[in-house]
Amino acid sequence: MRIAILADIHANREAFETVLADLEGRDIDRLALLGDIVGYGPDPEWCTDKARALVADGAIAVRGNHDHAIRNGDADFNITARRVIRWTRERLDPAQSAFLSELPFTHREGGVLFVHASANSPEDWNYVSGPDRARASFATTDARCIIVGHRHVPDLISCDLTGRTARHRPTVGLAMPLIGSRRWLAVVGSVGQPRDGIAKAAYAVLDTARQELTFLRVPYNILRTVEKLRQLGLPESLALRLNWGA
Ligand code: ZN
Repeated sequence: MRIAILADIHANREAFETVLADLEGRDIDRLALLGDIVGYGPDPEWCTDKARALVADGAIAVRGNHDHAIRNGDADFNITARRVIRWTRERLDPAQSAFLSELPFTHREGGVLFVHASANSPEDWNYVSGPDRARASFATTDARCIIVGHRHVPDLISCDLTGRTARHRPTVGLAMPLIGSRRWLAVVGSVGQPRDGIAKAAYAVLDTARQELTFLRVPYNILRTVEKLRQLGLPESLALRLNWGA
């Protein structure tokens, strides 16, 4: 099975639509939405409705911290994130808010665990920022593959039988073999707000039969998203961030 994994869409309609179009012809069997469908971006209603339709069609979806904050506290958020989440709450109707805030924290399918932040503590929104921080996730689950978002920076970490972890540099467009003697944790990068200095939407494709993971990047119409942010009076730092991809 080939699963396309989209994390951290962040209400960026242009990036979301571009990635969905990019999937055409890639022989995808299933979609997984890894949380943070909203927050930061100008199109929370459209992105939530699209995600709901995809889930109704069989897509996997888990809850991100911004989805969670729609009906819960936002005390952990910085001032920019909090301002936009409060604006987002006003835009969403009760059904849209319920969909986001009732998404499961994790989804397990065979040997693959999907979670927004970390496997060891999904509700604490910890960042898996490197091999050391990944150890707790590997120790919590027997899943061969843990797929996460949250960091907005693509990363690939493996763990051997003794529990030793190692980092592997994600190479865009290359099917990376997930060797059977190790377990794997992939951070797939962000569709709607990349932070690795590359201003292109990021997503990944997991081929469970071939045991391969492919990191992908697609350019999208950033100018249009930026224009919407400015027209809506949302924080300028978010517009600059999209331009820089950082
Ligand atoms: Zn996010």
